[in-house]
Parts: sequence; C-alpha cells; structure tokens
Amino acid sequence: MQFKEYLFRISFLYRFFSVHFLMKCAKIKTINPFYHFVVDGRNELTNYLYTPKTKAQFNKDLQFLKKYFHSLTAKDIANSNHNLDSFGFFLSFDDGLSNFYSVVAPMLLKEKVHAVNFLNSDFIDNQDLFYRYKVNLLITHIRENVFLEAQKNEIAKIIALNKITKSKLINTLKTLSSKDSDKLDKLAKLFKISFKEFLKKKTPYLTTEQILELKMQGFYFGAHSKNHPYYAEISLEEQIKQTIESVTVVENKFNLAMRLFSFPFSDDGVGDAFFDTMKKEKIITFGTAGIRNSDNPLRFQRIPMEYNTVYSAETIIKGELIYHILKKIIGKQ
Ligand SMILES: [Zn+2]
Repeated sequence: MQFKEYLFRISFLYRFFSVHFLMKCAKIKTINPFYHFVVDGRNELTNYLYTPKTKAQFNKDLQFLKKYFHSLTAKDIANSNHNLDSFGFFLSFDDGLSNFYSVVAPMLLKEKVHAVNFLNSDFIDNQDLFYRYKVNLLITHIRENVFLEAQKNEIAKIIALNKITKSKLINTLKTLSSKDSDKLDKLAKLFKISFKEFLKKKTPYLTTEQILELKMQGFYFGAHSKNHPYYAEISLEEQIKQTIESVTVVENKFNLAMRLFSFPFSDDGVGDAFFDTMKKEKIITFGTAGIRNSDNPLRFQRIPMEYNTVYSAETIIKGELIYHILKKIIGKQ
C-alpha cells in the first residue's frame, strides 16, 4: 500500500477541512484527476491489477468534482488561461480504451465535462495489447486451471522459476516489464490463449472511427507512448523515440493542434535532458505524481483515481491535498 493510502484510510477526519480551505493552503488553482475506465462488475483487463470504478461511483466522483471545481479543456491547461477566481479540474483518461467511447463519453457529455484521452499509438484499432493486460489475462487462466507436472516444468522454463506454485507464478507475472513480452507470448501459447483473438473479439481499444467521432463531440486526444514501457527502465534515446513517435502519430492521424503526452506508469527516473527535448518539441507532459508545484509550464502532474480499494473522489482529492500540504510543511522545516 502506498503512503497516500494511509491518509485515505483516515478520511473520516477530512470533514473538518473544506475543499476551499485545502486548495488555499496548497496554493493551487487546478487539479488533474485521471482514470482508465469505468465498468460495472468484473472485467477481463484489470481485475487482478487494480479496481476500476462502477458507473455509480464514477458519477458520484463527477458530482463532487463539479461541485467544487469547473471543468477545464486541454486548451485551458496549455494556455493556463482558466478563470482564476474559481478552482478548475482537468480530467483525463489513459490507455485509449473503447470503454471510453461506450461508457465514459456519454456520461461526460451528459454532465458537460471535458476530457482528454491519451492513446498508445501501437494499440489504436486493436493492433496489439498492453503487456499488463496480457498479464491479467494470463493470471485469470492460471487461477481458473489446474496444471499437470509436465506443464509446470514448461512454465518454469519460460519464466526461469525453480518451483512453480500458483501464487509464486502470479507474483512473478506481476513484476514483469515490457521487455518480457516474449515470455508472456510463450506462456499464452502454452495456455492456448490467443491475444490476437481477444483483441478481435473484445476490441478493448478505441478505433480510428470512434476517436474521430469523439473528437467531433468535443473530446481531445494525446499520446501515451507507443507500447506503454516503464520509462525508468528504458534509455533516454528510447524515451524520446517512444514519446515523439507516438505524439506525431496521434497528431497527424487526428489532425490535432496541441501536442499532449501522458507518461505510461509515471515520470519517475525521467531526467532533465528528456524535458529539454520536450520543450523544443513543444510537447506538454503529464505525470502521475498527484499534486506537485512545477517551474516548468509544460510539465504537469495528475492524480490517480483508481487503486486496489475504491476510494471516493472526495477522499482522494482531499487526501492528495493534505499530503501536498504536509510535504510543504516538512520541506520548509
Ligand atoms: Zn497507461
């Protein structure tokens, strides 16, 4: 559990602090919450990775956000030209899932809330599947099946484990990175799971057509790298390539004037040289560190709204604000 979640657990104390008071203490005008998708009941993509919100929970989040903040567009954020007399929220979604088209967009349109969706350029039109989603599908199979000794030996060979137990195997799968894609593909072959078939049947990602329709409805788009690697694990050269190539694809394909990019996972371990290049390329970046003051007008942080436990928007936003204020106080001392 992250430290922030300990703060969320004492949210019963938050009622003593109003949003207005916390925003004033934090000395900020805007917050940038982000989600992946909204789904009622179980889902095949993330059920072993984190818990997405249901429609009712997401709607409650929207009501909370709308009560204290006004909805900002990508342009508002890029030009920081929002009305400074009130607080604003900039909403975004990562991974470009088709769930945004079928479930989220209709809810946002009804509530008149703007949003940006960040797309992995390799996954648009269901061309390939994010390795963490592959892991989730494999875990589902492992939990639902019994393996023979011979199969266990095969699995052990693929992921270089000595003794295979289900829990050990699942924990190992959860630690794999984008570089382990071949291991995931080999396991899938052994389990007779076809990711291609899954992509074709379930179409988890937005299609070009859906994106163009969403754009007509007023939604905006950015890039989220080519294939979602963890930037701390790849070279500067690869970070820049993943970013510029994905931004260019999204920009050209959907005829966008602004170059927006959200980091896959986080911007941990990303250095100044990267941000210097982004400045030259006029790319605005979004991390996942919650609330952070930045001297760089092209660099933003966003607040993750999904955890293993479901917390309300009020708990997360107030918790993030309290965390930010505490850090400032400690920093000053
Ligand atoms: Zn992502």
